Amino acid sequence: MISDFKNCFGCRACEQKCNKNAITMQSNSEGFLYPSIDESLCNKCGLCEKICPAIEQGSERMPLKVYAAKNPNEEIRQQSSSGGIFTLLAEHIINKGGVVYGAKFNENWEVVHDYAETTEGLAAFRGSKYVQSNIGDTYKTAKDFLQTGRDVLFSGTPCQIAGLKAFLQKDYDNLITVDFVCHGVPSPLVWKKYLNELIDNVHHISSIKFRDKSIGWKIFCFAVHFSPSADKNNLQIIEPLNINTYMKGFLRDLYLRPSCHNCPAKKLKSGSDITIADYWGIQKVLPEFDDDKGVSLVMINTERGKKIYDLLNKDDKETAYYDACAGNSTIEKSVLMPKKRAVFFERWQKESIIPLINKLATDSFVRRVLRKTKKMLRHSIFFKLFLLMRNILCTVKPKGTKLKP
Ligand SMILES: Cc1cc2nc3c(=O)[nH]c(=O)nc-3n(C[C@H](O)[C@H](O)[C@H](O)COP(=O)(O)OP(=O)(O)OC[C@H]3O[C@@H](n4cnc5c(N)ncnc54)[C@H](O)[C@@H]3O)c2cc1C
Repeated sequence: MISDFKNCFGCRACEQKCNKNAITMQSNSEGFLYPSIDESLCNKCGLCEKICPAIEQGSERMPLKVYAAKNPNEEIRQQSSSGGIFTLLAEHIINKGGVVYGAKFNENWEVVHDYAETTEGLAAFRGSKYVQSNIGDTYKTAKDFLQTGRDVLFSGTPCQIAGLKAFLQKDYDNLITVDFVCHGVPSPLVWKKYLNELIDNVHHISSIKFRDKSIGWKIFCFAVHFSPSADKNNLQIIEPLNINTYMKGFLRDLYLRPSCHNCPAKKLKSGSDITIADYWGIQKVLPEFDDDKGVSLVMINTERGKKIYDLLNKDDKETAYYDACAGNSTIEKSVLMPKKRAVFFERWQKESIIPLINKLATDSFVRRVLRKTKKMLRHSIFFKLFLLMRNILCTVKPKGTKLKP
């Protein structure tokens, strides 16, 4: 069994694989699920360790092709986090009679994995939910569908895809796996506590969007809508990402799963066929393609992924991998664990969460001044001249030395 819990990403492959049902998942003090073994049921077969994707990690890969892409259906693109490419892929599988797995909200606004067999069913999966989704027993049910010969598209975080592959231990021709570039997943219990403080009765909510595009894709909003029956003066909350408390804490990495700070599935190690993301920086790479309504970054990692992607009716342009990485550091690197994370988890059970997040996610006066000065310097003509001079000096070939290629 994985001995160092900080590496466990809670994919539940061990729990679903155990023939003796000796493993159950228990929530820890931070609200993340970790495996727990019932020693009286365990026969020490070692299967859980053998298949653990945090121990047996995949290999680093480079994508075969990289695209900036949009779903031509403007309504779907508006409802999606980036360019709506997930829905195009998913519709393709459903139209072939297949099954699509993704993350959705349940009736209590918790995030859970489930499957859909109709295009209408895909609506619940659309849009990023910035909470670790509970994978449940979806690896098992996906295997059942695969064995009956149905096409299965399984979407999830890179670690969930690594978990599925570890669970299956076999390649299926009828399986297509789609992950996304992942910043990290927040604690489900932090999300629950935040929502309960924000809204008296979560059953009055009719929709939640972490990526509402009403004012644009780059400055997206966190939005909650209430059902008309709710006794509310204001039937909606819409706050830009730099104003909303939960988003500020998420983007300052206050409550991500510990394994996200040293993610074992980065650099396409999950084994997925296709990786999707926001094409951040598209305004520099392909300015004419950017309309601030959302552009997906699509990385095709396998021949199977390429075969399906080539069949889609999409609007796309091929780009370089390094252009994509320039605007999206989390493709290759995990985010650092800030010192304030420990402070947050020391206090979050004892205090109201909204003021706590606001306090920890706000920079001190000195830090704000430093950040502003750094930004101004970066844009100043003197700094640009300094960089130019440095580049010239660094490329001058000293006598008797060879420059590296
Ligand atoms: C926690 C999280 C962190 C992310 N971090 C980054 C990042 O750092 N950089 C970046 O470029 N993109 C990131 N993304 C991906 C990005 O937000 C979009 O999901 C991606 O661009 C696909 O968008 P789309 O328009 O094609 O489709 P959408 O319709 O927006 O895609 C939805 C897909 O995401 C899945 N999904 C949604 N929430 C979850 C969840 N909690 N767990 C598992 N699967 C989920 C759905 O099942 C579906 O497959 C992140 C997404 C999530 C959920």
